[in-house]
Amino acid sequence: MNAQRLTVVVAAHNEALALPMLHVRLCAVLDDLGGIDGRVLYVDDGSTDTSWEVMQGLADTDPRVGVLRLSRNFGKEAALTAGLDFVDDGAVMILDADGQDPPELIPEFVALWQQGYDNVYGTRLKRDGESWFKRSTAKAFYRVIGRLSNTPIPADTGDFRLLSPRALQALGQLRERHRFMKGLFGWVGFRRKALPYHRHARLVGESKFSVWRLWNFALEGITGFSTAPLRATTYLGLAAASFAFLFALVVVLKAALYGDRVAGWPTMMAVILFLGGIQLIALGLIGEYLGRLYEESKQRPLYLVDTWQAPFVADSAVH
Ligand code: UDP
Ligand code: MG
Repeated sequence: MNAQRLTVVVAAHNEALALPMLHVRLCAVLDDLGGIDGRVLYVDDGSTDTSWEVMQGLADTDPRVGVLRLSRNFGKEAALTAGLDFVDDGAVMILDADGQDPPELIPEFVALWQQGYDNVYGTRLKRDGESWFKRSTAKAFYRVIGRLSNTPIPADTGDFRLLSPRALQALGQLRERHRFMKGLFGWVGFRRKALPYHRHARLVGESKFSVWRLWNFALEGITGFSTAPLRATTYLGLAAASFAFLFALVVVLKAALYGDRVAGWPTMMAVILFLGGIQLIALGLIGEYLGRLYEESKQRPLYLVDTWQAPFVADSAVH
């Protein structure tokens, strides 16, 4: 039987400083993986610094390294998808380029894979170097999506995970444009196992995820994996309509009993503004889903490849 293969997929956007540091640590781990044929695939997600040159340098000196360059910055989710698409054999391990996901834990992931788990995901016990705001909003987000969605999306879990060949193959079938990877991983199912770890601060550079980007990311997650907000507006509408009906009764009764003296301008304005607000929110919400439907209907590819260079290790070299 062939040796089992594990490809570490690293998506990077402007990580020229972090990549060499990460590579040294990765190599040490891959050298020590025993009977497993360990490889690395770096995906350059449209970096504007020297990340691509750095990656090529790593590929030139290490035959286990493959490099993939996208035609522009498509975002981490698309970059990861591209990386996973180019792995045609064996399991994959997904790792951030900035060293926040410690490569030294890979053997533990592999051990669980060999026990038969298909989706071994790192769960953050502690997050260094991240603000209170980021941590608390992340927590609230996981709680909301956990409630709204039927897909199991484990809390405090990022993309740091190992996928068995069959889980990878299954994930490859999900081609939606709006990709919320955490949800897609959960959707695939199979045997899942959490691996708690301590998330370190970035080695160098800054997070590419601003508050605004995180908010959009959260919207992506919720709209991608739940239609509960759409349904909720129906109930909101029902509640508002019932209230309006009761209010109308009160107004009519009052006019009948005490006469109509053209009072109530403030109440009228309040009701109009309130209902107008609700209607706009509901419309915006429908728009969020409709916009995604529109993107989906265009059927564009998820990413475009500029350059692809496979690892030099010949398959026959694997015993
Ligand atoms: N990344 C990417 N494309 C992007 C943004 C980020 O490939 O458009 C990569 C980035 O290089 C890093 C990983 O995604 O390897 C996580 O990004 P970051 O550290 O900025 O996010 P955080 O850890 O703060 O959530
Ligand atoms: Mg990071």
